[in-house]
Amino acid sequence: MAITEVQKDGVEAHIAGGRLTINLDALVANYVQLRKRSGNAKCSAVVKANAYGLGAERVVKVLWNVGCDTFFVALPEEGFAIKRVLPKATVYVLNGIHETSVPSIAEGGLVPVLASLEQIELWANFWKPRGSRRPCAIQVDTGMNRLGLTVDEAIAFRKRNMREHIVTPILIMSHLACADEPQHALNAQQLESFQRVASAFDDIDSSLANSAAIFNGPEYLFDVTRPGIALYGGEAINGTPTALNPVIKLEARIVQIRRVSHGNTVSYGATHKLDHDAKIATVSVGYADGYPRAGSSAGVALRQCIPTGAHGFIAGRKVPLIGRMTMDLCMFDVTDVEDSALEDGWIELIGENILLDDAARAAGTIGYELLTSLGQRYERRYISSEL
Ligand SMILES: *Cc1c(COP(=O)(O)O)cnc(C)c1O
Repeated sequence: MAITEVQKDGVEAHIAGGRLTINLDALVANYVQLRKRSGNAKCSAVVKANAYGLGAERVVKVLWNVGCDTFFVALPEEGFAIKRVLPKATVYVLNGIHETSVPSIAEGGLVPVLASLEQIELWANFWKPRGSRRPCAIQVDTGMNRLGLTVDEAIAFRKRNMREHIVTPILIMSHLACADEPQHALNAQQLESFQRVASAFDDIDSSLANSAAIFNGPEYLFDVTRPGIALYGGEAINGTPTALNPVIKLEARIVQIRRVSHGNTVSYGATHKLDHDAKIATVSVGYADGYPRAGSSAGVALRQCIPTGAHGFIAGRKVPLIGRMTMDLCMFDVTDVEDSALEDGWIELIGENILLDDAARAAGTIGYELLTSLGQRYERRYISSEL
C-alpha cells in the first residue's frame, strides 16, 4: 500500500493551536463516486470559497489528475487562482458579471455565468469591437429567486440569439432551492421548468444538479453535474449520511487540565455550573478559528433551541463542550477520560467520530458554513498517497 505523504500549509506544527488534516485521497474517492452517480453527465467540481475552505489550488490539482476539467467558482478572483495552476481548465464564474469586472473575466479566460439580459448585453458589447466572441453560460431562475433570467426570458432570448448571434452560450443552468429535501414539491416544479429551458437550448449542455440533486434521480442529471459539499465529505441530503468519506479532521491542542469541584462555574457569564467534581480540558481553538460559538453548551441565545452543544472526541469517548466558547479557547468536560489518555494532547473537534454535519447541527448551522469559516490559525496538513 502506498505511503500517505503529507504537505503542510498554514501555521507550523510546533506552535499551532489547532490541526486541520485534509485527506485528498478521500476527496478524490468522493469525486469518483459522484462521477459514477452522474451517469452519462460530465461531473464538474464546485470549488468556490477556496474549495469550501479546504484550499482550492490543491483540490483542483488532485481532481484534474483524475480527469475533472470543469470547475465552478463564485467570483473572478477565485477563478484566476485556478487558471494559474490549471490553465486549460474550464472555469465558470457563478456570480456573473458587472460593468467593471468584464475585462478581467474576459482576459482571464473565465466563462461567466450570465444572470440577466443586461449581463448578456454587457458581455456582447465587450466582444463586439474585438471581432471574436468568448463563450458564456446562462443562468435561469426556475424558482429559487436568487439569480438568473426567467424561464420566459431565456426561451425568448434563445430565439433572438438564433437570429442575431448576440453571444455564444456553451451551458444553460439553473439551481434547485430544495434539493436536500427530496420530497419537496418545488423540486418537481423546478425540474419541469428547467426541462422546458433545456429543450429550447437543445444544442448546448445543460446543468441543474448540485450534490443533493445527484442523489435525487437520473432526471436531474442533464449534461453536467455540479457537486460541491459532497466532495468535501458533507451531507448532501439533510440528515441522511451518504456513503461518501469524511475529508477533514480538525483537532485542538489541550493547553491545560484543571480539576474543579462541583458547584463551581465555567467560562464567561458563569453560565455552566458543575454538578459533579470535574476534570476540564482547556483547548487552544475558539470562535476566532471558525469553530462556532453557538456550539457553547450554555448561555448563547441560539443555543436555546438546540438541546445539546458541541462535543469533542478523545480516547474513544465523546466529551461535551462546557461553558461559553471564547475567542481563542474552549473547555471540554473530560472527567471520564483517563489522565494517561489526555497526555496525547489533542481532542478531535470534527472528523470520523464527530461528523462535520453533527458538529454543525450542534451549533445550529450547516456543514457548508462550518467548512467555509475554518480559520487561518491552524496547521494545515494535506495527506495523500500521490503528492
Ligand atoms: C454552491 C453551488 C453548487 C454546489 O452545491 P452543493 O450543495 O455544495 O453541492 C452548485 N451550483 C450552484 C449554482 C451553487 O451556487
